[in-house]
Amino acid sequence: MTHANGQRLAWGVDVGGTDCKVGVVDGSGAVRAETEFQTPDVPAEAVRAIERACRELESALGESVGRLGLGVPGPLDLARGVIVQAPNLGWRDVPLRRMVADALGCEVVMDNDANAAAYGEAWVGAGQGAGVLLLITLGTGVGGGVVDQGRVFHGARGLAVEIGHIVVVPGGRPCSCGKRGCLEAYFSAHALSEQAAEIGIGDGDPRGHRMLFERYAAGDPEVVPWLGRAIDVLAQGVAQAGVLFDPDRIVFTGGLTRSWDTYRDRLVEGLVGDLGPAGPPAEGIGLTELGGRAGIVGAAGLALRG
Ligand SMILES: [Zn+2]
Repeated sequence: MTHANGQRLAWGVDVGGTDCKVGVVDGSGAVRAETEFQTPDVPAEAVRAIERACRELESALGESVGRLGLGVPGPLDLARGVIVQAPNLGWRDVPLRRMVADALGCEVVMDNDANAAAYGEAWVGAGQGAGVLLLITLGTGVGGGVVDQGRVFHGARGLAVEIGHIVVVPGGRPCSCGKRGCLEAYFSAHALSEQAAEIGIGDGDPRGHRMLFERYAAGDPEVVPWLGRAIDVLAQGVAQAGVLFDPDRIVFTGGLTRSWDTYRDRLVEGLVGDLGPAGPPAEGIGLTELGGRAGIVGAAGLALRG
Protein backbone atom coordinates (compact mmCIF):
# COMPACT_ATOMS: atom_id res chain seq x y z
CA MET A 1 0.00 0.00 0.00
CA THR A 2 1.35 3.42 -0.84
CA HIS A 3 0.39 7.03 -0.58
CA ALA A 4 1.02 10.00 -2.86
CA ASN A 5 4.80 10.13 -2.48
CA GLY A 6 5.17 6.38 -2.60
CA GLN A 7 5.73 5.81 1.13
CA ARG A 8 4.20 2.83 2.82
CA LEU A 9 2.05 3.38 5.87
CA ALA A 10 1.55 1.25 8.96
CA TRP A 11 -0.60 1.47 12.04
CA GLY A 12 1.34 1.49 15.28
CA VAL A 13 -0.61 0.34 18.34
CA ASP A 14 0.71 0.75 21.87
CA VAL A 15 -1.47 -1.22 24.28
CA GLY A 16 -0.88 0.14 27.78
CA GLY A 17 -2.34 -0.83 31.13
CA THR A 18 -4.46 2.32 31.16
CA ASP A 19 -4.49 3.79 27.66
CA CYS A 20 -4.21 2.40 24.19
CA LYS A 21 -2.53 4.63 21.59
CA VAL A 22 -3.00 4.15 17.86
CA GLY A 23 -1.17 6.04 15.11
CA VAL A 24 -0.51 5.91 11.39
CA VAL A 25 3.21 6.18 10.72
CA ASP A 26 4.98 6.58 7.39
CA GLY A 27 8.27 5.19 6.15
CA SER A 28 10.21 8.18 7.48
CA GLY A 29 8.91 7.55 11.01
CA ALA A 30 6.53 10.53 10.96
CA VAL A 31 3.20 10.13 12.80
CA ARG A 32 0.57 11.13 10.21
CA ALA A 33 -2.47 10.70 12.46
CA GLU A 34 -3.06 9.44 15.98
CA THR A 35 -5.67 8.82 18.64
CA GLU A 36 -5.98 7.17 22.03
CA PHE A 37 -8.62 5.61 24.22
CA GLN A 38 -8.92 3.82 27.53
CA THR A 39 -7.85 0.18 27.17
CA PRO A 40 -10.97 -2.02 27.53
CA ASP A 41 -10.69 -4.73 30.21
CA VAL A 42 -11.79 -7.56 27.93
CA PRO A 43 -9.42 -8.57 25.08
CA ALA A 44 -12.18 -8.98 22.47
CA GLU A 45 -13.45 -5.47 23.23
CA ALA A 46 -9.92 -4.11 23.06
CA VAL A 47 -9.54 -5.63 19.59
CA ARG A 48 -12.82 -4.03 18.45
CA ALA A 49 -11.68 -0.65 19.80
CA ILE A 50 -8.32 -1.01 18.03
CA GLU A 51 -10.05 -1.93 14.77
CA ARG A 52 -12.41 1.04 15.01
CA ALA A 53 -9.56 3.49 15.76
CA CYS A 54 -7.46 2.12 12.89
CA ARG A 55 -10.30 2.46 10.38
CA GLU A 56 -11.13 5.98 11.55
CA LEU A 57 -7.53 7.13 11.18
CA GLU A 58 -7.27 5.51 7.77
CA SER A 59 -10.40 7.17 6.41
CA ALA A 60 -9.48 10.54 7.97
CA LEU A 61 -6.14 10.34 6.11
CA GLY A 62 -7.79 9.14 2.91
CA GLU A 63 -4.92 6.72 2.28
CA SER A 64 -4.82 2.99 2.73
CA VAL A 65 -2.69 1.35 5.38
CA GLY A 66 -1.44 -2.17 4.83
CA ARG A 67 0.35 -3.34 7.98
CA LEU A 68 0.07 -3.11 11.71
CA GLY A 69 2.56 -3.26 14.56
CA LEU A 70 1.53 -4.04 18.14
CA GLY A 71 3.50 -3.07 21.23
CA VAL A 72 2.08 -4.88 24.25
CA PRO A 73 3.02 -5.59 27.86
CA GLY A 74 4.56 -9.01 28.45
CA PRO A 75 5.77 -11.61 28.98
CA LEU A 76 4.85 -12.76 25.47
CA ASP A 77 5.15 -15.89 23.43
CA LEU A 78 6.58 -14.13 20.39
CA ALA A 79 6.56 -17.17 18.12
CA ARG A 80 2.80 -17.62 18.58
CA GLY A 81 1.92 -13.95 19.02
CA VAL A 82 0.35 -14.55 22.42
CA ILE A 83 0.31 -12.37 25.53
CA VAL A 84 1.19 -14.96 28.17
CA GLN A 85 0.46 -12.66 31.05
CA ALA A 86 -0.15 -8.93 31.34
CA PRO A 87 -0.65 -8.22 35.06
CA ASN A 88 -1.64 -4.57 34.52
CA LEU A 89 -4.42 -5.64 32.16
CA GLY A 90 -5.37 -8.86 33.92
CA TRP A 91 -4.91 -10.76 30.62
CA ARG A 92 -3.60 -14.31 30.34
CA ASP A 93 -2.91 -16.38 27.22
CA VAL A 94 -4.44 -13.89 24.80
CA PRO A 95 -3.60 -14.60 21.10
CA LEU A 96 -3.71 -10.88 20.34
CA ARG A 97 -1.67 -10.96 17.12
CA ARG A 98 -4.12 -13.31 15.40
CA MET A 99 -7.17 -11.52 16.85
CA VAL A 100 -6.01 -8.16 15.47
CA ALA A 101 -4.94 -9.69 12.14
CA ASP A 102 -8.38 -11.28 11.73
CA ALA A 103 -10.18 -8.04 12.63
CA LEU A 104 -8.23 -5.85 10.20
CA GLY A 105 -7.38 -8.41 7.55
CA CYS A 106 -3.75 -7.40 7.38
CA GLU A 107 -0.30 -8.54 8.42
CA VAL A 108 0.45 -7.91 12.11
CA VAL A 109 3.76 -7.96 13.96
CA MET A 110 3.88 -7.94 17.74
CA ASP A 111 6.60 -7.17 20.26
CA ASN A 112 6.74 -6.15 23.87
CA ASP A 113 6.18 -2.48 24.64
CA ALA A 114 9.74 -1.73 25.77
CA ASN A 115 11.19 -3.37 22.64
CA ALA A 116 8.81 -1.38 20.43
CA ALA A 117 9.77 1.86 22.18
CA ALA A 118 13.46 0.98 21.85
CA TYR A 119 13.03 0.34 18.13
CA GLY A 120 11.24 3.69 17.73
CA GLU A 121 13.98 5.60 19.52
CA ALA A 122 16.71 3.79 17.56
CA TRP A 123 14.91 4.50 14.28
CA VAL A 124 13.99 8.18 14.55
CA GLY A 125 14.49 9.24 18.20
CA ALA A 126 17.19 9.60 20.83
CA GLY A 127 19.00 6.48 19.65
CA GLN A 128 19.33 7.54 16.03
CA GLY A 129 22.83 6.85 14.75
CA ALA A 130 23.69 4.54 17.66
CA GLY A 131 25.00 1.10 16.77
CA VAL A 132 23.62 -0.40 19.98
CA LEU A 133 20.86 1.30 21.96
CA LEU A 134 19.83 0.33 25.48
CA LEU A 135 16.41 1.74 26.41
CA ILE A 136 15.11 1.74 29.98
CA THR A 137 11.45 2.42 30.80
CA LEU A 138 10.82 3.73 34.30
CA GLY A 139 7.12 3.48 35.06
CA THR A 140 4.90 1.35 37.28
CA GLY A 141 7.58 -1.27 36.68
CA VAL A 142 10.98 -1.17 34.96
CA GLY A 143 11.42 -2.47 31.41
CA GLY A 144 14.25 -2.54 28.93
CA GLY A 145 15.05 -3.09 25.30
CA VAL A 146 18.19 -3.41 23.21
CA VAL A 147 18.39 -2.58 19.51
CA ASP A 148 21.62 -3.86 17.96
CA GLN A 149 22.36 -2.54 14.45
CA GLY A 150 18.64 -2.04 13.75
CA ARG A 151 17.52 -5.38 15.21
CA VAL A 152 15.67 -5.89 18.49
CA PHE A 153 17.56 -8.34 20.71
CA HIS A 154 14.96 -10.88 21.87
CA GLY A 155 16.88 -13.73 23.43
CA ALA A 156 15.89 -17.33 22.78
CA ARG A 157 12.31 -16.97 24.08
CA GLY A 158 11.72 -13.24 23.81
CA LEU A 159 12.50 -12.61 27.46
CA ALA A 160 15.80 -10.77 27.04
CA VAL A 161 16.57 -7.44 28.71
CA GLU A 162 13.88 -7.70 31.40
CA ILE A 163 16.10 -5.30 33.25
CA GLY A 164 13.60 -4.69 36.07
CA HIS A 165 14.27 -8.22 37.27
CA ILE A 166 18.04 -8.09 37.46
CA VAL A 167 18.86 -8.91 41.09
CA VAL A 168 20.87 -5.98 42.33
CA VAL A 169 20.54 -6.52 46.10
CA PRO A 170 20.95 -10.22 47.03
CA GLY A 171 18.22 -11.17 49.51
CA GLY A 172 16.75 -7.68 49.22
CA ARG A 173 13.21 -6.35 48.89
CA PRO A 174 10.60 -8.81 47.61
CA CYS A 175 9.57 -8.29 43.96
CA SER A 176 6.22 -8.95 42.25
CA CYS A 177 8.00 -11.65 40.19
CA GLY A 178 8.64 -13.76 43.30
CA LYS A 179 12.38 -13.06 43.54
CA ARG A 180 14.13 -10.75 45.99
CA GLY A 181 16.31 -7.72 45.38
CA CYS A 182 15.21 -6.96 41.82
CA LEU A 183 15.87 -3.49 40.45
CA GLU A 184 12.11 -3.02 40.05
CA ALA A 185 11.61 -3.57 43.80
CA TYR A 186 13.62 -0.37 44.44
CA PHE A 187 13.18 2.12 41.61
CA SER A 188 9.70 2.00 40.05
CA ALA A 189 6.56 4.02 40.74
CA HIS A 190 5.21 1.10 42.71
CA ALA A 191 8.40 0.48 44.71
CA LEU A 192 8.95 4.15 45.54
CA SER A 193 5.44 4.60 46.91
CA GLU A 194 5.80 1.37 48.87
CA GLN A 195 9.11 2.42 50.43
CA ALA A 196 7.64 5.83 51.26
CA ALA A 197 4.57 4.27 52.88
CA GLU A 198 6.82 2.06 55.03
CA ILE A 199 8.19 5.15 56.77
CA GLY A 200 4.82 6.88 56.94
CA ILE A 201 5.06 9.14 53.87
CA GLY A 202 2.16 9.17 51.44
CA ASP A 203 -0.62 6.64 51.12
CA GLY A 204 1.08 4.10 48.86
CA ASP A 205 -0.37 5.66 45.69
CA PRO A 206 2.17 5.01 42.90
CA ARG A 207 1.32 8.39 41.40
CA GLY A 208 2.92 10.14 44.39
CA HIS A 209 6.48 9.82 43.06
CA ARG A 210 6.78 13.43 41.95
CA MET A 211 6.42 14.69 45.51
CA LEU A 212 9.06 12.19 46.67
CA PHE A 213 11.59 13.40 44.08
CA GLU A 214 10.88 17.02 45.05
CA ARG A 215 11.59 16.19 48.68
CA TYR A 216 14.74 14.33 47.63
CA ALA A 217 15.94 17.34 45.64
CA ALA A 218 15.25 19.61 48.62
CA GLY A 219 17.48 17.41 50.80
CA ASP A 220 14.65 16.10 53.01
CA PRO A 221 16.37 13.79 55.57
CA GLU A 222 13.34 11.45 55.60
CA VAL A 223 13.64 10.80 51.88
CA VAL A 224 17.30 11.24 50.88
CA PRO A 225 18.71 8.01 52.45
CA TRP A 226 16.39 5.45 50.86
CA LEU A 227 15.59 7.29 47.62
CA GLY A 228 19.30 7.97 47.13
CA ARG A 229 19.91 4.24 47.57
CA ALA A 230 17.14 3.47 45.07
CA ILE A 231 18.89 5.73 42.52
CA ASP A 232 22.16 3.89 43.18
CA VAL A 233 20.40 0.54 42.73
CA LEU A 234 19.03 1.77 39.38
CA ALA A 235 22.53 2.83 38.34
CA GLN A 236 23.93 -0.60 39.26
CA GLY A 237 21.20 -2.52 37.44
CA VAL A 238 21.47 -0.47 34.26
CA ALA A 239 25.26 -0.72 34.44
CA GLN A 240 25.03 -4.52 34.56
CA ALA A 241 23.01 -4.47 31.36
CA GLY A 242 25.47 -1.96 29.93
CA VAL A 243 28.44 -4.18 30.69
CA LEU A 244 26.70 -7.05 28.87
CA PHE A 245 25.56 -5.16 25.77
CA ASP A 246 28.14 -2.35 25.51
CA PRO A 247 25.63 0.18 24.11
CA ASP A 248 26.79 3.47 22.63
CA ARG A 249 23.57 5.15 23.75
CA ILE A 250 21.44 4.66 26.90
CA VAL A 251 18.00 6.27 26.79
CA PHE A 252 15.52 6.57 29.67
CA THR A 253 11.78 6.97 29.22
CA GLY A 254 8.55 6.52 31.20
CA GLY A 255 6.61 8.40 33.86
CA LEU A 256 9.45 8.60 36.39
CA THR A 257 11.60 10.55 33.93
CA ARG A 258 9.33 13.56 34.57
CA SER A 259 11.51 14.09 37.65
CA TRP A 260 14.75 13.35 35.72
CA ASP A 261 16.45 16.61 36.71
CA THR A 262 16.23 15.71 40.40
CA TYR A 263 18.17 12.44 40.10
CA ARG A 264 20.04 12.67 36.80
CA ASP A 265 23.44 13.69 38.21
CA ARG A 266 23.58 10.94 40.85
CA LEU A 267 22.32 8.31 38.40
CA VAL A 268 24.69 9.19 35.56
CA GLU A 269 27.68 9.47 37.86
CA GLY A 270 26.94 6.06 39.40
CA LEU A 271 26.21 4.54 36.03
CA VAL A 272 29.38 5.76 34.35
CA GLY A 273 31.41 4.53 37.33
CA ASP A 274 29.79 1.08 37.30
CA LEU A 275 30.01 0.71 33.51
CA GLY A 276 33.80 0.90 33.55
CA PRO A 277 35.12 0.77 30.00
CA ALA A 278 31.80 -0.54 28.56
CA GLY A 279 28.95 1.63 27.38
CA PRO A 280 28.79 5.33 26.51
CA PRO A 281 30.31 8.31 28.28
CA ALA A 282 27.92 10.60 30.23
CA GLU A 283 26.98 12.46 27.00
CA GLY A 284 25.56 9.25 25.58
CA ILE A 285 23.13 8.82 28.48
CA GLY A 286 19.90 10.78 28.32
CA LEU A 287 16.18 11.03 27.79
CA THR A 288 13.73 9.90 25.15
CA GLU A 289 13.04 12.15 22.18
CA LEU A 290 9.79 10.51 21.10
CA GLY A 291 8.26 10.45 24.61
CA GLY A 292 4.84 8.84 24.71
CA ARG A 293 4.90 8.27 20.94
CA ALA A 294 7.91 5.92 20.96
CA GLY A 295 5.66 2.86 21.24
CA ILE A 296 3.47 3.61 18.23
CA VAL A 297 6.40 4.77 16.11
CA GLY A 298 8.44 1.70 16.99
CA ALA A 299 5.59 -0.79 16.56
CA ALA A 300 4.76 0.70 13.15
CA GLY A 301 8.46 0.67 12.24
CA LEU A 302 8.71 -3.03 13.05
CA ALA A 303 5.66 -3.66 10.83
CA LEU A 304 7.07 -1.59 7.95
CA ARG A 305 10.37 -3.43 8.14
CA GLY A 306 8.33 -6.65 7.91
ZN1 LIG B 1 11.56 -9.20 39.95
